[in-house]
Amino acid sequence: MVDFTIRGAGIMGLMMAWTLIHRGQKVQIIDPHGVGAGASGGVVGALAPHMPEKWSAKKQFQFESLLLSDQLWPEIDAVSGLTSGYGRVGRLMPILNDRGLELAQDRAAGAKEHWNDFATWNIVERAPDWVPPTPTGRWVYDTLSARINPAAACASIARALASKGCEIHSNAPDCGRVIWATGVHDLVRISDHLGVFFGAGEKGQGAVLDINLGIAPQLYIDNIHVVPHVNGTTAIGSTTERFYEDGAQTDHLLEDLLERARTLIPALRDAPVLTRWANERPRSHSRAPIIGYHPIEPDAYILNGGFKIGLAMAPKMAKCLADFILTGADTIPDDFNSEQVIS
Ligand SMILES: Cc1cc2nc3c(=O)[nH]c(=O)nc-3n(C[C@H](O)[C@H](O)[C@H](O)COP(=O)(O)OP(=O)(O)OC[C@H]3O[C@@H](n4cnc5c(N)ncnc54)[C@H](O)[C@@H]3O)c2cc1C
Repeated sequence: MVDFTIRGAGIMGLMMAWTLIHRGQKVQIIDPHGVGAGASGGVVGALAPHMPEKWSAKKQFQFESLLLSDQLWPEIDAVSGLTSGYGRVGRLMPILNDRGLELAQDRAAGAKEHWNDFATWNIVERAPDWVPPTPTGRWVYDTLSARINPAAACASIARALASKGCEIHSNAPDCGRVIWATGVHDLVRISDHLGVFFGAGEKGQGAVLDINLGIAPQLYIDNIHVVPHVNGTTAIGSTTERFYEDGAQTDHLLEDLLERARTLIPALRDAPVLTRWANERPRSHSRAPIIGYHPIEPDAYILNGGFKIGLAMAPKMAKCLADFILTGADTIPDDFNSEQVIS
């Protein structure tokens, strides 16, 4: 007998289970494809904040989720004995011109206001040797960004859950209250059922290179994430594709991305590719997360719409839904509320 059944063993379902178990609930997870079989079992793992300007409920929510990540992943790894690859290593972004410098200064002020004392947005004149020079000789370095190894993180939290008595089944009857965290599968199912566009998949491709850049900040350059992982590899991500035939197949678009990364960062030029990976991000019609009552499953709940930042958003999304179900406290931002999304 359990209090909750969670459908989906991606980051949303796993983090939801972890949160509920810590509130004294008994939980089972059902996923016919196994842990991290969808978007969450990937390779990139940039946990990077929104720009600290034009502050909004979504930015505040993400900020709080990054704070929670900083606390949760070390706790999870301590319980599992595995490593999620979490590290708050920060992020470098090149400052290309005077306008970029002005913007960076404004954002530094924004970070001071909104990130409290937790993290800073700095303009720096030094970067690791592998980072290409900038025309201004300067970079932004924020200390809020972190990285995680997504597939390893899913394995770590699944092991930690198992040690707390949470079983993960490929098939089992629902028991207790049900939470759907099935990513793209549910967005498509709900859209079909309601006859409206509730959400869909958006494909992304990334790769892992065999190059050890040490414990270094991630680099965000020309829309490319370069993430040095703690296991001595470096991830490159990601493409963004609305139209595709096979969401899990890598193709020439990934090769183009890799070529662009290698041109921008000559240090990557000769690094062999260890892994090529593709999957579909769950994108709601508003691009915002979806939290609350399930639109078509009676008496059930939904946690979905992580889209491009689901790994970063999962801790706070799970907390928010747990508060809603267990205490009735509705702290779900209006844009994220499943009932708002549908109306
Ligand atoms: C290329 C790429 C790069 C990304 N990079 C980042 C990044 O750097 N930082 C970041 O924060 N986010 C990133 N994301 C986004 C992030 O991965 C997703 O937002 C997040 O993983 C979504 O988690 P989820 O649990 O909702 O979905 P999923 O991980 O897709 O999990 C859904 C699960 O539901 C299961 N399922 C399906 N149908 C059923 C059913 N009927 N019953 C039970 N289970 C079912 C599936 O098997 C799957 O395991 C990236 C995504 C991609 C594709």
